[in-house]
Amino acid sequence: MIHEVLPAVFKIDVPIPRNPLKATNSYVIKGDDRDLVIDTGMNIEESHNVLTDAFQELNIDMDKTDFFITHLHADHLGLISALAGKNSTVYFNKPDAELIIIGGRWEVSVELFLQNGFPVENLRKAFKDHPGYRYASKGNVDFKIIKENDKIRIGDYDLIVIETPGHTAGHTCLYEPDKKFLFSGDHVLQSITPNIAQWFYDENPLKLYLESLDKIAKYNVKLVLPGHRKPFTKFKKRVAEIIEHHRVRSDEILKILEKGGKQNGFEIASHMTWDLTFKDWGKFPIIQKMFATGEALAHLTYLRSKGFVTRKLSGDRFFYSRKDL
Ligand SMILES: [Zn+2]
Repeated sequence: MIHEVLPAVFKIDVPIPRNPLKATNSYVIKGDDRDLVIDTGMNIEESHNVLTDAFQELNIDMDKTDFFITHLHADHLGLISALAGKNSTVYFNKPDAELIIIGGRWEVSVELFLQNGFPVENLRKAFKDHPGYRYASKGNVDFKIIKENDKIRIGDYDLIVIETPGHTAGHTCLYEPDKKFLFSGDHVLQSITPNIAQWFYDENPLKLYLESLDKIAKYNVKLVLPGHRKPFTKFKKRVAEIIEHHRVRSDEILKILEKGGKQNGFEIASHMTWDLTFKDWGKFPIIQKMFATGEALAHLTYLRSKGFVTRKLSGDRFFYSRKDL
């Protein structure tokens, strides 16, 4: 459960039951006076127990521990209010903190999904099942807002904040320029591609995400310590693979639109290929249909911003088509 991945840097596998990701990586860096914990797991008993046992084993005193949270998703931020001590500093980015402080904008997402053809009878249930809703951090936490190039010194390490929006509006990574390792959160993962989904009207998350991939690829990274699955090397190769993945996905959507006719976001998502164990779209649990639709919308918005796709409002629904057809 606990692995020392670098001197004084420990990785804890925090289980997140009933979630295809299976576990979140929480990292502990042992410092001189204070320790730093990076990401926490979901606000759920199984995660909490594993993490508190690991902290005990590592001799962590919560009054001398600070936290860095890569992004607002419940599997990273969820346990923060249960874990943080009175004297803990919780480093967090501004866009994600603002969304957490207002308690999310779930009604806006419901509206966006309705307009994009998500079946109305399932929609509210889907959002109630959303892990961000069910396993969110309860209670208020004072965040210490961090931004690009801010530094956190802990033990022998100098960590630099790199803003990498896309997976969420404020996702941030931590980079150690001397030892050349990166806490990548969910920005770059090895065996899975991070979910890039649109939840609000006024955003283009895939554009942001691809820009953040170009940005992070310029750093010299020898070891990636990701938010899920195993640490890995060959960083630039992996970034290139993820960029290619999104190019292929965009092409797939353009092909779906070539068939013509009025297609809404939900229908387009149902025609895309998904790397899931369910036999066909009809068998997908509603929550997976929601993530799939969010991902389709992110691609459609990106393709609109590039001038390949148009969107028309017909009645109270959006429909998409190829621009050149
Ligand atoms: Zn995430």
